[in-house]
Amino acid sequence: MSKKTPLKNIKVVTEMLEGRHRTQTRTTVGYQPLKEIKIREVGETWEEVSPEGIVTVWEQKKGYRVKKSANADALQKVRDFLKQYPNCYEDCEKKVTKKYTRYDDNTRMIHGMCLDCQARYETELKIRGEFTEYERQKKIDSLQNWFKDAEKEKDILKTAIATGAFAEQDGTFEKWRPENLTAFLEKMDEDFEKLRQSLLEPLLVDNQINTDEKN
Ligand SMILES: [Zn+2]
Repeated sequence: MSKKTPLKNIKVVTEMLEGRHRTQTRTTVGYQPLKEIKIREVGETWEEVSPEGIVTVWEQKKGYRVKKSANADALQKVRDFLKQYPNCYEDCEKKVTKKYTRYDDNTRMIHGMCLDCQARYETELKIRGEFTEYERQKKIDSLQNWFKDAEKEKDILKTAIATGAFAEQDGTFEKWRPENLTAFLEKMDEDFEKLRQSLLEPLLVDNQINTDEKN
């Protein structure tokens, strides 16, 4: 806005000299309606709702107030819970040092224990001859989890195709004939099921062969 024409500048100066420039005539400058003043007790919490509906929770401290989010306490509990290592061994050193790394974070998410405890646990399984079964179960679990997610995506895709949203977006698609559409959707289900079986079945069969294997 700095590219003012000389003429405009003259206008501004003239206005200012005469006291009618908008910055001089504006009556609302700095005016705010007086808010009701409340005296808060230390430790008191209260909510303020912004015009956008965002709830802020305030807590009165001695001489100042702090902002908390409306569900700060609940979120903190969840955070604390997620940081726990419930399956670590009793004598796990990291329970004391608390020096967890991102590798610990990985094993915590899957097994609820730090990497050291995880390694120790697997060694014990190997000694007891249970490691193969454990590995197999782990693979089955992760495959089943993967399929759970994939199935949701498949169903979303099917709905999109069935309602035509998918076909209309792509100009190369002809309108589906009802019988073709049904066949196509059925084939999607069939292929999905085939894939699931082809990946899961070998793992399930392994069960009978490998359970006695010692590492
Ligand atoms: Zn541990």
